[in-house]
Amino acid sequence: MNIEKLEAFLIQKDQPKFRLGQILRAVYQEGMAEFAEITSLPKNLRDELNEKLPILSFVAEKILEAKNGQSAKALLKLADGSHIETVLISPKPEMWSVCVSTQVGCPMGCRFCATGKLGLKRNLTAEEIVDQVLFWKQWLKKKFRNSELEIRNHDVSNIVYMGMGEPFLNWDNVSESLKILIDKNLFGFGSRAISVSTSGVTEGIEKMAREFPQVNLAISLHFADDAKRSEFMPVNKKDNLESLRQALKKYFQITNRQVFLEYIMLAGINDSAEDARKLAGYIRSIEKLQLLHVNLIRYNVTSDELQPSSREKTEHFKNMLSEMGISATIRKSLGEEIQGACGQLAGK
Ligand code: SAH
Ligand code: SF4
Repeated sequence: MNIEKLEAFLIQKDQPKFRLGQILRAVYQEGMAEFAEITSLPKNLRDELNEKLPILSFVAEKILEAKNGQSAKALLKLADGSHIETVLISPKPEMWSVCVSTQVGCPMGCRFCATGKLGLKRNLTAEEIVDQVLFWKQWLKKKFRNSELEIRNHDVSNIVYMGMGEPFLNWDNVSESLKILIDKNLFGFGSRAISVSTSGVTEGIEKMAREFPQVNLAISLHFADDAKRSEFMPVNKKDNLESLRQALKKYFQITNRQVFLEYIMLAGINDSAEDARKLAGYIRSIEKLQLLHVNLIRYNVTSDELQPSSREKTEHFKNMLSEMGISATIRKSLGEEIQGACGQLAGK
């Protein structure tokens, strides 16, 4: 929702001061999808708002739900006709995590990622980013309207910036969106319920440490070898492993908080014993061993060029890391069935 436009509209209509807060609460905290539902507003104002100001900045063209009820994906059409995707995942009962996109497409060109193949079309506005959260909040509310469980059990609890796009290449809008998510008068999420994932744009890592030290940071590392990382992730040519290490050191100095290192398991490419040793060596070189946690994710097939490592190999890789004193878990991929898993978002 465009808060500035709403405010201007209310002033123009000579509405009392408290109206704005009243509407913001109804939309951001109660998840009202229509002005008509906000019955505490005068009827004519509801009608006018309904006509003049859409609550969401996009329309959902398609919603796909996984059979197990643990994930859903929506294809959204923005005002300029471009498309993005957003995903809702329930990793455990009563936890609903929204995965937001930050760009239409992505300029980073990682070879294993479906979004990367699209290139960048444009940045999303802060409004378009937070509206993805609003969209799922409304969807959950409708879905569980008649359920015996109360709404509080079926509300968005977490937000991950892990959809389409590189958040740190759209920092102005991403930081604005974080402010809206955290603002007690708007969504009111705790910073620690929010995670931002970057492919390793070091400039952004420092900005986030300074501006949002309590928001979780995840880094898509995937390779602990510069030559390989550059081959699969062009970002590494500018921000290589050494500059990433410096950025992480600075991040720890400022926040002293845990960072998640994402590592996709690609058969025959980054899953050998040697790769595990390199990864452990790299993590040790950053020093704050206890603050780094590795998430191993088996590659979700997006092209014929690459294959995921086997389950056994992934398990073995994890055990090797543990033996070398590195904390690691294998992340279960939710959303595969709906092509809503990591790296599968391509806006179609
Ligand atoms: N652009 C940011 C945010 C997207 S997060 C980033 O790259 O961090 C999406 C996560 O899924 C990233 O860790 C990304 O590297 C990973 N990913 C991309 N393609 C994948 C694939 N095919 N299989 C598994 N993970 C993938
Ligand atoms: Fe962009 Fe992230 Fe995909 Fe790389 S993995 S292309 S940074 S969305």
